[in-house]
Amino acid sequence: NAFQKLGLDADLLKAIKDMGFETPSEVQEKSIPILLEQETDLVALAQTGTGKTAAFGFPLIQKIDSNSRKTQALILSPTRELCLQITNEIKNYSKYKSMNAVAVYGGASITDQARQIERGAQIIVATPGRMQDMIRRRLADISGIQYCILDEADEMLNMGFYEDIKTILSHTPKEKKTWLFSATMPKEVAKIAKKFMTDPVEITV
Ligand code: AMP
Repeated sequence: NAFQKLGLDADLLKAIKDMGFETPSEVQEKSIPILLEQETDLVALAQTGTGKTAAFGFPLIQKIDSNSRKTQALILSPTRELCLQITNEIKNYSKYKSMNAVAVYGGASITDQARQIERGAQIIVATPGRMQDMIRRRLADISGIQYCILDEADEMLNMGFYEDIKTILSHTPKEKKTWLFSATMPKEVAKIAKKFMTDPVEITV
């Protein structure tokens, strides 16, 4: 199977089969082998609807240590809707692993979200404003994450989240890997890549 050729493990292949995905999309074909094989930063130019959530979600799930309950990855996305959608997809993809993803976004109870994180969340999927708030109130600890994904980076910057992103990233370890996905590459996104990333591999679809 074409997903197996990309290097994905049996648990993921089973979940992919359940979802009925037959062939990897272009962004998946290009990013999955790189992210699995190399510990590297990545900049991917890809529109919504291209399968980009799985392009970072599959390798992320494979790399996370499900034996540890610690938060190992943070995914930042511009809106509550996208945040929930990504969380659902991650839960689907990881259904044969013992792993938990928690959605953190504004307009819902911060106490509930903090409680969910406390129960163990290897992956936090968040909007920047609420994430910044949770860090400030010490309700989430991202000081040990290994992976940070900036999804729809252009949209997050359009919405004015630059300062929040900067604050959030300042609470993450230097050694983490950053994977940035964006539909477009305006100056502001290039600036983020330059400031917060190291020699990223670049892919375009
Ligand atoms: P995204 O671009 O991540 O928002 O994905 C768009 C939609 O395509 C989502 O509903 C995914 O579940 C679906 N999808 C992602 N990858 C594949 C694939 N390889 N084959 C079929 N559908 C997919």
